[in-house]
Amino acid sequence: MPRRERPSVARAQRALRARRSPKAKQPESGQVASAAAGRRVRREHPPVIDLRDVHKTYSVGDIAVHALRGVSLRITRGEYVAIMGASGSGKTTLMNIMGCLDAPTSGIFRLNGLDVRGIEEDDLADVRNRHIGFVFQSYNLIPRTRALANVELPLSYAGLTRSARHDRALAALREVGLEDRVHHLPSELSGGQQQRVAIARALVSNPALILADEPTGNLDSASGAEVLSLFERLGEQGRTIVLITHEDEVATHARRVIRIRDGAIISDGRPEAREPVA
Ligand code: ADP
Ligand code: MG
Repeated sequence: MPRRERPSVARAQRALRARRSPKAKQPESGQVASAAAGRRVRREHPPVIDLRDVHKTYSVGDIAVHALRGVSLRITRGEYVAIMGASGSGKTTLMNIMGCLDAPTSGIFRLNGLDVRGIEEDDLADVRNRHIGFVFQSYNLIPRTRALANVELPLSYAGLTRSARHDRALAALREVGLEDRVHHLPSELSGGQQQRVAIARALVSNPALILADEPTGNLDSASGAEVLSLFERLGEQGRTIVLITHEDEVATHARRVIRIRDGAIISDGRPEAREPVA
């Protein structure tokens, strides 16, 4: 492709430096790996997600399952993207790759300009923690642990003081409208409220990307609608969000909808018009 391509080595080195130094400042904007490199990184704007001809093949006995067949995709900062497809189309496989939970069989994946190939698992966990906030269908909150402590958790790696963690977790819970539930246990919260705690946990560290896999899958329609309008508001605030779903209704809330079928992208564009929400 004749697209202007710059070597990413310097960028990767900066990211590595930021990773190695535990004192490295947690990026306030969620985008910039280090304050010193800030200006340059901002101007370059590497895509948050950059997939090039990504294949993923699972071997099951003698059979090769081609879960992804040459996916190329760029997602830039501030986009709110839904990835849609029927069950078995490759959505979770794609999410696992974007979330650095699994590696492509072939092709290139860069997260925020960083080629994650060959990074050891310990360091990968660090990359995930710095760059990505996950939201799962089943919330994955820690039971018998209050909402506030659940939201503080991702900050325990960030080298913040106890009171800074507390303040940021409180602010995140306020952002999802749960300031009056901070001392509740997950079992004392509705499904929709638990998912909002999970969203607060995903955004508390200001990640470059919020990655949500079927976030409304376990919710009744009223709670689901609440969670979707929350994502919509976060999208309007300029957060980068990738939401994976098999439901049309969910996808229409995003500003860009990518459809996959049998491990390949079949369309990529604006969602079809929907009824305005009150
Ligand atoms: P979706 O999330 O869209 O339902 P998946 O990404 O989970 O799709 O699966 C895509 C295809 O890959 C399916 O055919 C599935 O059976 C297969 N698959 C997914 N994970 C594995 C695995 N760990 N081992 C073997 N096959 C898998
Ligand atoms: Mg899935």
